[in-house]
Amino acid sequence: DRSVCTPLPVLGCDVRVPLVTGGEVTYAALDYAASAPALQRVWDDVAAYAPYYGSVHRGAGYLSQLSTELFENSRADVAAFLGCRDGDQVLFTRSTTDSLNLLAAVLPAGTRVFVFETEHHAALLPWERRADAEVTYLDAPRTPGQAVETLEQALAAREPYGPALVCVTGASNVTGELWPVRELAAAAHAHGARIVVDAAQLVPHQRVDIAELDADWVAFSGHKLYAPFGAGVLAGRADWLRDAEPYLAGGGASRRVARGASGEVEVDWHDGVARHEAGSPNVIGAYAIASACKALTEAGFDRLAERERQLITAVREGLAAVPGVRVLSLFGPGAPSVGVLSFTVDGWNSSHFAAALSAEYGIGVRDGLFCAHPLVRTLVGGASSADGGCGSDEGAPLNAIRVSFGAGTPDEHVERFVTAVGELVR
Ligand code: PMP
Repeated sequence: DRSVCTPLPVLGCDVRVPLVTGGEVTYAALDYAASAPALQRVWDDVAAYAPYYGSVHRGAGYLSQLSTELFENSRADVAAFLGCRDGDQVLFTRSTTDSLNLLAAVLPAGTRVFVFETEHHAALLPWERRADAEVTYLDAPRTPGQAVETLEQALAAREPYGPALVCVTGASNVTGELWPVRELAAAAHAHGARIVVDAAQLVPHQRVDIAELDADWVAFSGHKLYAPFGAGVLAGRADWLRDAEPYLAGGGASRRVARGASGEVEVDWHDGVARHEAGSPNVIGAYAIASACKALTEAGFDRLAERERQLITAVREGLAAVPGVRVLSLFGPGAPSVGVLSFTVDGWNSSHFAAALSAEYGIGVRDGLFCAHPLVRTLVGGASSADGGCGSDEGAPLNAIRVSFGAGTPDEHVERFVTAVGELVR
């Protein structure tokens, strides 16, 4: 029944799942922040291309030529979607995690990195892997203005320095709250630092224009942007990318390889995007991202955001009416957010609550620490977690429930969720 697939049709919107109480129900996917369902349009585009699938940059045959063109056109489409500047590069990676690790790998020697402790681990952890980088962790701010102030002070306190990078999220994967990216970019640039925006939770909800934000790089994942395959993007300034050793050594990144006079292997690396895209590229993943970019642009971010505002308002109002529900917020009530919200329920282990939502109501949410342990610790408090991964912290009080939605979410899913939370608490 596709009529439930509003406003943009997504895969899986009509999947029925069994309930522990008997019977079955249409699955309510309310975990878009982890992985959004693929847009039907993306799936159709990929299916139409699949018979013509061939190796990229590696074959003389017609289908290889076609696939190479499709891959490079996808790069151009993503560049247009992001409003890239002349000279910016769009690299296809595996994910946001991969994109930020790539950027960490290409930092100039001795780069100073400034990062808020509230970041997703993908944005928090890669920098320490560079032994020569000096990482400054910034305390959690309690207002967007305080975030800018904290950064300003940290940058000023450590001047003068050589290369410096600020890493900040566009929208939190825990609270959904928007970060003041433009202001943080201005602060970074005023002190001669660069900025990378972890846009994993921003790109699916808002138009992200790299030039308008004045970000040096943005990173995001296809699977959160309604494109199901293992591909991501790192887009932005070319110079640090061009000046660094390739992220991966291998075919495609190397222009010329030969044995030298004393038997060693000499390599000339490519200068362009190929430098950091060694190996056979994921053409389907790249094409799916480009297709999603077009579909969202055509649907109109204004329209999607307006719809999302209605849904988030319904969720907030619904939860506010249930005693013992605490919505997690760094910036306080009313702070602008995307369709991502986390909460705890007094007297409940969040894992059990999420399990009940699934088993009794067919609702898929996420529970745990959301790969942002320091942030969840700040917001929830309680015992420290021994969970080194991203998973649920079974039995410990330090966990929360996250509900998230987007372009494929019908009203009924949100209504069912609000009803379910009320009934479970009662
Ligand atoms: N940053 C943020 C804000 C995220 O929400 C996520 C995914 N939860 C990531 C980075 C990492 O994305 P991926 O798992 O696709 O690498």
